[in-house]
Amino acid sequence: MFRPISRVTERLKSYGMTTAAQVAALLTLDPEPYYVELKELARQVREHYALTSPRIRCSDLRKIYRAQGIELILWPGKVRNVRGAYFNDEWGVAVMVMKELPEGPLVFTMAHELKHHLVDSDLKPYPRWRFDQPNPIEVGADLFAAELIYPEKAFEFDLGRMGRRVGDGPLDVLLRLKKKTGASLPHRIFRERAVLMGFAPASLFRMSSWLKLEKADW
Ligand SMILES: [Zn+2]
Repeated sequence: MFRPISRVTERLKSYGMTTAAQVAALLTLDPEPYYVELKELARQVREHYALTSPRIRCSDLRKIYRAQGIELILWPGKVRNVRGAYFNDEWGVAVMVMKELPEGPLVFTMAHELKHHLVDSDLKPYPRWRFDQPNPIEVGADLFAAELIYPEKAFEFDLGRMGRRVGDGPLDVLLRLKKKTGASLPHRIFRERAVLMGFAPASLFRMSSWLKLEKADW
């Protein structure tokens, strides 16, 4: 079975860090190399499973899940603030995702949970664990998912090729890119990347029309 290894996580485990809480706490000190590595792992997975476009379907992720021996459970109804969850216990390996998610966010959630399977599955989970800064294990899963679906380099290249039409603002260009590529990336990731790349200021995304789009992603 193809299983990319996280060198950072393995190193922390070799220091005796066996729980997700310990690993996450240490990662907060310097998360950048971990994030760089996770994006690299995502590109390896992308290549191994021959994903070539940013339009990733649920069926693409199902194929990877099957190859990885992950059971997919589509959960009916809505649970507040929960999109998906990863389980690896005596019952087996399974990912639960909310059935009502639109396809893009569903694909993104499945990709997020795939990172937990590949990288965090042998760490002890953190029940009721709270942290006052973003948890690198979770941030890393989002970065992994985004890179698996639409690698940053390709995103930046495609964005540069979109060009500007008269009267177009940066948000129009982003939305045209999303439409043209059919990228299965939530609007939130488009915003985060655009801000990070200096393509648009964060303040621009406070418009209600954009907020509505992010909300519709769940
Ligand atoms: Zn997660």
